[in-house]
Amino acid sequence: MLQSDQIIRSTCPYCGVGCQLDLHIKDDHIFRVEAPFDAAPNYGRLCAKGRFGMDFVTHPSRLTQPLIRKDFGETPRKAIGLEGFRPANWDEALNLAAEKLAGTVLRHGSDAVGTFCSAKATNEDNYIFQKFVRGVLGTNNIDHCARLCHAASVAGLSIAIGSSAMSNSIAEMKDLDVFIITGSNTSETHPVISTFLREAVVRGNAKLIVVDPRAIEMTEFATLWLRQQPGTDVAVFQAMAHVIVEEELYNKPFITERTEDFESYITTLKDFTPEWAESISGVPADLIREAARIYANANAAAIYWGMGISQSVHGTDNTLSLANLALLTGQIGRPGTGLNPLRGQNNVQGCSDSGGLPNVYPGYQPVDDPEVRVKFEEEWGVPLNPEVGLTTMEMVDAAEQGALRAYYVMGENPMMSEPDLRHARHVMEQLDFVLVQDIFLNETGQYADIILPAASFAEKDGTFTNSDRRVQRIRTALPAPGEARSDWGIIADLAQRVESKLGREHSAGFAYEHPAEIWDEMARLTPDFQGIDYPRLERQGGVHWPCPSPEHSGTPYLFADSFPRGKGQFTPIQFHPSQELPDAEYPFILSTGRVLYHWHGGTMTRRSQLDHIYPEATVEIHPDDARRLGIEEHARVRVRSRRGKIEVKALVTERSPRGTVFIPFHFAEAAANELTQDVRDPYAKIPDYKVSSVAIEAI
Ligand code: SF4
Repeated sequence: MLQSDQIIRSTCPYCGVGCQLDLHIKDDHIFRVEAPFDAAPNYGRLCAKGRFGMDFVTHPSRLTQPLIRKDFGETPRKAIGLEGFRPANWDEALNLAAEKLAGTVLRHGSDAVGTFCSAKATNEDNYIFQKFVRGVLGTNNIDHCARLCHAASVAGLSIAIGSSAMSNSIAEMKDLDVFIITGSNTSETHPVISTFLREAVVRGNAKLIVVDPRAIEMTEFATLWLRQQPGTDVAVFQAMAHVIVEEELYNKPFITERTEDFESYITTLKDFTPEWAESISGVPADLIREAARIYANANAAAIYWGMGISQSVHGTDNTLSLANLALLTGQIGRPGTGLNPLRGQNNVQGCSDSGGLPNVYPGYQPVDDPEVRVKFEEEWGVPLNPEVGLTTMEMVDAAEQGALRAYYVMGENPMMSEPDLRHARHVMEQLDFVLVQDIFLNETGQYADIILPAASFAEKDGTFTNSDRRVQRIRTALPAPGEARSDWGIIADLAQRVESKLGREHSAGFAYEHPAEIWDEMARLTPDFQGIDYPRLERQGGVHWPCPSPEHSGTPYLFADSFPRGKGQFTPIQFHPSQELPDAEYPFILSTGRVLYHWHGGTMTRRSQLDHIYPEATVEIHPDDARRLGIEEHARVRVRSRRGKIEVKALVTERSPRGTVFIPFHFAEAAANELTQDVRDPYAKIPDYKVSSVAIEAI
């Protein structure tokens, strides 16, 4: 067997489970990946992406030197390939980038710059990015892809309990008593978590209730499967709450001690009978009653959900209706309970924690709170903007209106992830300046004026925070290719150049030698992190925040005694139908999501051997619908919506219900978001990726 030169412990760069990996290195390549059996959270388990998807790191198309667009300055800009760029050295690229960013600030004001930080980059990269954006550029226009995946979970949980993180830990999953999975195809999106959940059912006799329109693998393990029509989740959960109240299954002591507005809330449930919900959702009333009884009567019951709940125009209401269930029954604040949004990207939790949001500094400290702002001003030594910044989608709107003139995009791919891509492209073409920092030239980089080549997770040190709030290390295992540099190093260099172009005498402070110094600065400013530092992570492998002091052991489950907002808030919810329903011209509901072998925009997995297993875009269509349209298995079909059209391969399967089709969003050549609509949840501003109307035809 090939002997490794080195074995480096790191954290998987794909999903929010945060599996620990041992990278076996030989001749500057990762030639094998193993999972350590003694390390949480995965204890020896990995999915296909973690085990076989790391060869993207040494793919020949990695960016190795800074690039400048040959037609720099010409608008409207067009998408170009590598041949449209010329190589540059770091000084030239960074000076030009600094000149353009500083020029935008001086000519149009700080809020004319929009920035995207990265749920794939480290906490340290994101901390220093938001420090640059706030402390140097002077704007709070910073956001990332959490806006497009779990913003509605964040909004709903913030209203109900005052905290948006997953409340309970992965370690509790194998001992569950009862649990609900809704809007999460867990076996494909969080595969290692799904193995613990299946174990709870198979070995521990846990009862599983799946609420999902698709026949996902977890339905095979379910005690009950509530197969609702897409977009009718609220009706099902409200009816469960109705049953819990009607049959007095609620937890009176918990409600008295830990919640408020119970009496007024229950008066709003009167009309939401299971029969009413059946007429809306198609789920039999008796199944809704049974699910409510199982959940409410359990000793401990947890709720897990994914983007099927949050990526909806009703996403905040979906989350609030789940929170109402937990507050009614007291199924929160104990092991094996809780409200658990399964976070998507490897560091989407950490990116938000590190201040990558337009309304908060690190640790969710509000930018419009004067006391908090003064704390950051004193640490950074610069005045800070008190106005909440723009969200991802609001930045697109502002760019369209000409108020926003420049983008700085680090490690994100909005040209794949935005809804209604034709519109997003049009906006991108009009910007004065686009700066992109990434490991590959992706669909967003094709619009860049300057591209800065970044190191991958395997070529730098830092920390990721997984879905259950566990801060874990990544470590340098390989040299970065060519001249690529760590994100934090690039930002620090750029920040100092922009400060100089702006004529600032005082620096906000970017002279770091190692990411540990950046972590320590963030921890000083963030009470929840103050007990975590690199030496402790070396000793323990990972620590769950909140961890307010070195003596504190970390917090695997939250809310044992109280909620961050004090008492839990019941919220009355109304049911509203989806905005674009099928009609004669577009008779199918389109839902989008992930498959096991790919990840998000496919930037990494499509440059790995996994692409051989799942090489092209597909559409799941029910056999009855396929027969009617004359579509055979694996036939090429055209899918059209009011926004655009794509061509994909048909998978004729009963997985999706009649009248609903499912398309994964990983394939640039057939991007599902050409079809999706730009309608947004009114609170969270998250677009609806789960219900759009489409037509399908055989080609
Ligand atoms: Fe990586 Fe997620 Fe798979 Fe674990 S479950 S190996 S973190 S992609």
